[in-house]
Amino acid sequence: MKEPTFSRRDILKYGIATVSIATVGRSFAQESAAPVAAPSATGPFTLPPLPYAVDELEPYIDAQTMAIHHGKHHAGYVAKLNEAISQHPELGTRPIEHLLDSLDSLPEGIRTAVRNHGGGHHNHSLFWAMMRKEGGGKPHGELAAEIDKAFGSFDGFKEAFTKAALGVFGSGWAWLTLSPEDTFTIIQLPNQDSPLSIGHSPLLGLDVWEHAYYLKYQNRRADYVAAWFNVVNWAEVESLWFSLVKGD
Ligand code: MN
Repeated sequence: MKEPTFSRRDILKYGIATVSIATVGRSFAQESAAPVAAPSATGPFTLPPLPYAVDELEPYIDAQTMAIHHGKHHAGYVAKLNEAISQHPELGTRPIEHLLDSLDSLPEGIRTAVRNHGGGHHNHSLFWAMMRKEGGGKPHGELAAEIDKAFGSFDGFKEAFTKAALGVFGSGWAWLTLSPEDTFTIIQLPNQDSPLSIGHSPLLGLDVWEHAYYLKYQNRRADYVAAWFNVVNWAEVESLWFSLVKGD
């Protein structure tokens, strides 16, 4: 990743955990807050089904938000990614991760589209799996120990992650990642930028675009973030981490 594409600066420190923000070096077109058009049927990328019914994460995430978020917003990212890739069919054979972790290698004409819509597709695919009915609570075992090591305690992690999520200006995400230095790190990313594009591996992400919470929580992002902790799928976070560090 060449430096002009992204610049990173640390903005806040919580104990030994560093919260960094990735800023972008060029402007992006704002996405409409309205539901996007119906997806095209053409591949190669496809909308994964939700791993639960749209109302299963009630009362924390309401069914209407879930239905629109998955069926319209995520579907829209998939459709627009496919549209961009259609000009370069050879790229459609690459996993989405391998497009996002090497944006600079892509044809310039579709780079921004892959960054936005490919990022949107991958981020949301992760997000659905990172939530579950009767989730929440605390991580266990080695994952809990690693979080304690990085953030002092689970409460320390929760506080730092919440602060990062509330601090995202405009549309974006808060992420717990494995940094390029192999440490647990909390970062904020704007728009649909993927942690993969700055060399981080995503472990847990929280979508703080207004489309993720406005119907139920209106402007109360803090209430949404607090509620979301009740549906975190820590088993999925553990699985993602183990696949990185243990190679399975
Ligand atoms: Mn979203």
